[in-house]
Amino acid sequence: MKRPRILVCNDDGIYGPGLPALISAMRKIGLVTVSVPDHERSADSHSLTLHKPIRIHKKSEGVYALNGSPADCCRFGVLEILKGKVDLVVSGINRGYNLGEDVIYSGTVAAAMEATLLKIDAIAFSMDPDGTKDWKGAGVFAQRLAKQVLQKKLPKGVCLNVNFPAAGGKPYKAGQPARLGRRIYGTEVTRRSDPRGLEYYWLAGRQVSGVNEPGTDVGVVSRGRVSVTPLKIDSTDGATLQALTAWSL
Ligand code: MN
Repeated sequence: MKRPRILVCNDDGIYGPGLPALISAMRKIGLVTVSVPDHERSADSHSLTLHKPIRIHKKSEGVYALNGSPADCCRFGVLEILKGKVDLVVSGINRGYNLGEDVIYSGTVAAAMEATLLKIDAIAFSMDPDGTKDWKGAGVFAQRLAKQVLQKKLPKGVCLNVNFPAAGGKPYKAGQPARLGRRIYGTEVTRRSDPRGLEYYWLAGRQVSGVNEPGTDVGVVSRGRVSVTPLKIDSTDGATLQALTAWSL
């Protein structure tokens, strides 16, 4: 069989701690190209750079760093570097979970979603920000899942979102399918003053927690297992769509 062509993206950037593990895992199963931001772009969501030029830095053979968003990196990798000849896009491995509502903000997930929009199968990988990180073990898991996606293919408009709990020194067990759970974010806005007396703000800060519910990604990782969540591009709510037919629109 021909070696599959795999594009690796992320949002932690070229120096992201989980990038080397994902690259080496994918190199064992395919021909790998890397297209990632030149600095950290976490929580960049699905932004595209439309009003300034994208510059490309070739770091080594097949490894490119861009002054763009994670979604830009996927788009550029697929359309320009690989000219559409891509069998799979993988994103990560992100430092920090992308559970529940995190997927709204996540650049890691956005890079995978961009591939889905380009009709290419994709998987996003993220890791517990705390505890011992078994990047290599996560790479082994990623490799096994990637092989299956390459064989079985994903439905149209669907990508996979994978979260690894911190490792307790043991190899990862089989992953568990899970739906999106619920995250709890802080809502405080912190106002400070800079050395010149001008105000500035932090809109996020406190560490995020989650609702530990069985069957959800938050629940699965809290039990020390790897969660695998299928995500859809189409977020239409069927029930409300139906209910709207009775409104005077
Ligand atoms: Mn990140």
